[in-house]
Amino acid sequence: MSSTIYAQSAKELAGDWEMHRISKIVPSDVRHADLKKYLQQLKNIGLKVGEVGKSFGGREIYQMEFGRGATRIFMWSQMHGDEPTATSALVDMFAYLQKNPDKKWVKEIKEKLTIRAVPMLNPDGAELFQRFNLQYIDINRDAKALSTPEGQLLKRLRDEWSPEIGFNLHNQNSLTTVGRTNKQATISFLAVLGNAEGKSNENYIRNKRLISVMKVALDDFIKGNIGRYDDTFNPRAFGDMFSAWGTPVILIETGALHGKDEMFLTQLNFIAYLSALKALVEGSEQKANPKVYEDLPFNSSDRIFNVIFRRANIINFKETSESFTADVGINKERRRAQILAPTYVREIGDLTAYKGLEEFDAREFYLVPRNGQLRIGLGGEFLFFKKGRKIDWKAENLEKTFLPDAIFSDGKWTKGEKFFAKKQ
Ligand SMILES: [Zn+2]
Repeated sequence: MSSTIYAQSAKELAGDWEMHRISKIVPSDVRHADLKKYLQQLKNIGLKVGEVGKSFGGREIYQMEFGRGATRIFMWSQMHGDEPTATSALVDMFAYLQKNPDKKWVKEIKEKLTIRAVPMLNPDGAELFQRFNLQYIDINRDAKALSTPEGQLLKRLRDEWSPEIGFNLHNQNSLTTVGRTNKQATISFLAVLGNAEGKSNENYIRNKRLISVMKVALDDFIKGNIGRYDDTFNPRAFGDMFSAWGTPVILIETGALHGKDEMFLTQLNFIAYLSALKALVEGSEQKANPKVYEDLPFNSSDRIFNVIFRRANIINFKETSESFTADVGINKERRRAQILAPTYVREIGDLTAYKGLEEFDAREFYLVPRNGQLRIGLGGEFLFFKKGRKIDWKAENLEKTFLPDAIFSDGKWTKGEKFFAKKQ
C-alpha cells in the first residue's frame, strides 16, 4: 500500500519537474558560465546562493542553501568533471523547493531540514569534460592527502557544519549493468558504511531506508534498471571519509538508458532526491524496509556493448584477403552530447552471451576495418561489402575503387543503413 503512495508522489514529482525546472541545457553541455546563469535565476527567486571557494583554475565554486531546520543535509555533484547529471538536478530541486512554499511537505522540509548543496565541485574538469581537476588529480581520491583546493573545500564545508547526511552524486559508465543481467544500470546506489571493519550503525541503516524509498519511487520509471555497488572501504575516497568523519553518505551514480536522453536522467535524480527528503520529513522513511536496498543486485561491467555486429565476415586487408567469421563489439567513449563520441573495438569473437544496445546482422557482408586492421582498442570505423562481390582487397584506395555498400562511422551508419534495418 505504501508503494502506491510513493508511486503517486513520484509521478507527480515527474510532472512537477517538467513544470518548474530551470535546467534547459543538456547536462553534459552545461559549462561553468551556464551554471552561473542558473544560480543567478535561483538568487532572483530568493534562494540563498554564495561563493564558497575557488577551483585550482580560479573558477568560483558555489553553495546553495534551503531551509532552516535542525537536520543538516549536504549534497555535492560533479567532483568528476565529466559526470554532470546531478548538477542540473540539484539546480532544479532547489528551484522547485523555492517556488513551492505552499506545498505542505515543502513547508515541512523548510522547517525541519537545512539543505546545502555544492553543484559542480570541479568546474575546471567540467569545462574540459574530464574526470580530473586541473592538477590532473582525481578529487575523489584526495580525501586524505587534500592536495586539491576542491578537496580541501569539500572537507572544510563538512567539518565546519557536520551534516547528518551526505549525498555524493556521480555518473557511472553507461554500459554498467544490473547484476548478471544485460540490463543497463540507469541509477545505482550505495549506502556508504565508512569503516573497514564493517561495523553497522543507526545512521547507516537510516540511509539504507532512504535508498529504499528512492528505489521504490524510481521503480515507476526504470524498474529493473536499478543496481547497487559493493562497499569496499577506500580511505582515499570522500564518500568513505565523510562517513568515517560522521556524515554517512548516500552515493548515487547515474548511468544511462538506451533511447532516453540526459534530461530524463536529470528528472530521475530530481525525483530520487525529493522522494528521500519528503520521506525524511514526513516520517515514512522510518517505515521503509532496508531490505529493498539490500536486495538490489550488485552492478557488473563488460556484459553489454554499444554496438555488436553479428557473424561478420571480417577481412583485415592490410594483412590478408582471407576472411574469418566473428562477432565484433564496439563501444563509445564518454563525450558531451553535442560531440560525436569516438568508438573503439572492445571485443572480437563469440559474443553470443552479450547484448548490444544496437545489434546488426552482418552475415551477408564483409566487414572491413577502414584502416585495414581490426584491433582491440582502436577505431570502430567499418566498410561493408556484400558477400560475393568480387573485390581486390589489395587495391590502391580500396574505398574509392570499390564503393562500399554500407559505412559505419562515428557510431552510426553514414551509408547503407537500410541493409541493416531491424526486421519487423
Ligand atoms: Zn564519479
